[in-house]
Amino acid sequence: MNWRLNDHKKFITNDRNFHNFLLGLGVGSANTVTSKTMFNKLKNYLRKHLIIEPYLSGMAVIFTLHRVAPFEAGKLPSNEHMRISPEFLEQFVNELMKQGYSFINLDRLHEILISGERVSKQVVFTLDDGYKDNFEIAYPIFKKLNIPFTIYVTTSFPNKEALLWWYLLEDLILANDEITLYQNDKYRCHSFEERNDLFLKIRRVILSLEQCDLSNELKRMFSHYDIDWIAKCNELAMSWDDIISLSKDSLATIGGHTKNHYALNKLCKSDIIKEVEGANKLIESKIGKAVSHFAYPFGTRHEVGITEFDVIKELGLKTTTTTRRGPIYKEHVNYLECLPRIMLTENFDMRSIAEIRKKRVVTL
Ligand SMILES: [Zn+2]
Repeated sequence: MNWRLNDHKKFITNDRNFHNFLLGLGVGSANTVTSKTMFNKLKNYLRKHLIIEPYLSGMAVIFTLHRVAPFEAGKLPSNEHMRISPEFLEQFVNELMKQGYSFINLDRLHEILISGERVSKQVVFTLDDGYKDNFEIAYPIFKKLNIPFTIYVTTSFPNKEALLWWYLLEDLILANDEITLYQNDKYRCHSFEERNDLFLKIRRVILSLEQCDLSNELKRMFSHYDIDWIAKCNELAMSWDDIISLSKDSLATIGGHTKNHYALNKLCKSDIIKEVEGANKLIESKIGKAVSHFAYPFGTRHEVGITEFDVIKELGLKTTTTTRRGPIYKEHVNYLECLPRIMLTENFDMRSIAEIRKKRVVTL
């Protein structure tokens, strides 16, 4: 089948096309009851999740940031990937301004999607987790340039209870030539390359562990070491005072990011709700404002999918974001529980925005 631009729209809105398409695939006669049921199911699925129209109409981009802080020499790339430098952030915003982009917050994006207003070149900045540098470094930059932004707070960060194991693991690997896990599992890490490989290997294992018992699992795993698991949180996380202070500025939106940053697909429905609503209610009680926006922890296909989207949809939030890569189209009004974002990294190429805006409607 040869596609032309706009053919997708005609195709998905025309049942006869679907019939012919399915018959062509050998799905069977569209006249029998079974085939009609199958036809309708497949049609709804394709319309809901795989539509590709229209190619060139991306109206907004939501950027994902984590940390904004100067780079430190000798650190491992996997953690450094979560960081952009203050200089880069400022240059990037200035470049977007020159190119005619507008900066909006998530409430405004929600309003645009709901109203069907036709806009383009809108940018939303979001920062995940609640790192202290968001308050100390990113906020002054956004303030100076008058740019709205959202910080999705994981409440174990300001509660100073979060196990920032990825930084502790990095320190441990960088300070040793060999790592012992559990009773006596030894792993060599002499060179920088070996250290990075080992970090990635252990990270994969930790991410697969039972999330609700992570603290005990980590203690068992690293029983050879005397680790203060909360030290990094005290050093790197925002305080409630920082968050309350931010919430008083109309440029800042405080969103939810669960209590403990667990991968939600590892939890049952009632635990997902406790993680999400528990955190949102705590934030609301601290800042005295409603929390209407939420971001899934991790947010890739490995941690959240349709099941979790359906649970979140029931909670009545205005928007929820994943880390699926893509721009925002008007069609996302039907997918407010799983809006895609674009990760902003230090080597992000402005030209790639044009390419990203040509991508299909990303949902799942
Ligand atoms: Zn996160």
